[in-house]
Amino acid sequence: MSDTSRPASLAFGRPYLAIPGPSVMPDRVLRAMHRASPNIYGGEIYDVVDDIWPRLKAVAGTTQHCAVYIGNGHAAWEAANANLFSRGDKALVLAVGHFGLNWARAARALGVDVDVLDFGTSAPVDLARLEDALRADTGHKIKALLATHVDTSSSIKTDVAALRAVLDATGHPALLAMDCIASLGCDEYRMDDWGVDVTVAASQKGLMTPPGLGFLWFSEKARQRCAGGDLCTPYWDWELRARGPEFWQKFNGTAPTHHIYGLSESLQMLEEEGLHNVWARHRTLAGAVWAAFDAWGRDNPAIALNVVNPQDRGCSVTAARLGGKDATRLREWCEKEAGVTLGIGLGMAAPDDPAWHGFLRVAHMGHVNAHMTLGVLAVMEAGLQSLRIPHGEGGILAATKAISSHFG
Ligand SMILES: *Cc1c(COP(=O)(O)O)cnc(C)c1O
Repeated sequence: MSDTSRPASLAFGRPYLAIPGPSVMPDRVLRAMHRASPNIYGGEIYDVVDDIWPRLKAVAGTTQHCAVYIGNGHAAWEAANANLFSRGDKALVLAVGHFGLNWARAARALGVDVDVLDFGTSAPVDLARLEDALRADTGHKIKALLATHVDTSSSIKTDVAALRAVLDATGHPALLAMDCIASLGCDEYRMDDWGVDVTVAASQKGLMTPPGLGFLWFSEKARQRCAGGDLCTPYWDWELRARGPEFWQKFNGTAPTHHIYGLSESLQMLEEEGLHNVWARHRTLAGAVWAAFDAWGRDNPAIALNVVNPQDRGCSVTAARLGGKDATRLREWCEKEAGVTLGIGLGMAAPDDPAWHGFLRVAHMGHVNAHMTLGVLAVMEAGLQSLRIPHGEGGILAATKAISSHFG
């Protein structure tokens, strides 16, 4: 029986999951996956896979090598670590949030000697500190830098070309590996132009395909320098997946058949739109989110974006604080009363710390457009009003201006 003692929820209708992964699945991708199992010993799936590889490389901005794993982003980290390092090799991790620290942990667990430069959760990589660390490594023990393009917990974006420039200026030969799980297909990324050796991504964020595929792109330089590493079992070996002559070697076993069809469709969608337009769309939608928060924060200094400088913000996810318990209250309101699920704060406070309830994230990655982002923001503003959380006026007006200014 319906509860008539409280106002009816307005959540009934199509729900919107605005958490930073899994992202919204396009109907086209879902339809492409809805089919009978194909034969994996010949036929159409071979052609689809042959067709996907160069397109996957194009999305990452490389003409070099690509390996695909059945797994999530954590599996792709494991794959990167297992191929890059031998036991006892040294890695330098540049952490700007939860995900950088966790990549470090995964490498350490494999027996890699990991140093972490931790820049906290609201500032970008300090290039001077990186330069000092590289210059101090006179014996060139550091085999690779591991960094996050956009750390999904803090929404800090790393200037990849600037990392390359520091490596070049110091003459340090370390390989450069980037976690682009939250940014690929959202933020501008050019692996070859920026001199990146290893790029890590997964299917369920900007690539708009259900969780289940992890990707590695790697340079010929990395391939040669890392050959014969003692962490690399046949399962993880990027060489077999990228270059093995047999079809089954591409996945070291049964192919992820339905994910392949879904991915082929999502790549088609990115190609139809054009990567430059994809990046521009994410930039403008992110700008709308930032504009709304700036307005809301004007009468309540507790409400603020996590990252002060827009250049240091990723365009696929926005981390913010509301203070007190207001982020949890607003998330719960949006889900229960309006059908929008926002992301929890991650890595900004321990889950058992009361401060945890002051942080949230809004995802705007992948299959999102102006009406979806404006809808989320309008729901959030209605929630702020309904919950009587003090906030500045004009959040939605500011967001709509960010959208209209896209068109000049
Ligand atoms: C989501 C994410 C991960 C983890 O990916 P899973 O698929 O959850 O294993 C790692 N790094 C970044 C930057 C991410 O956004």
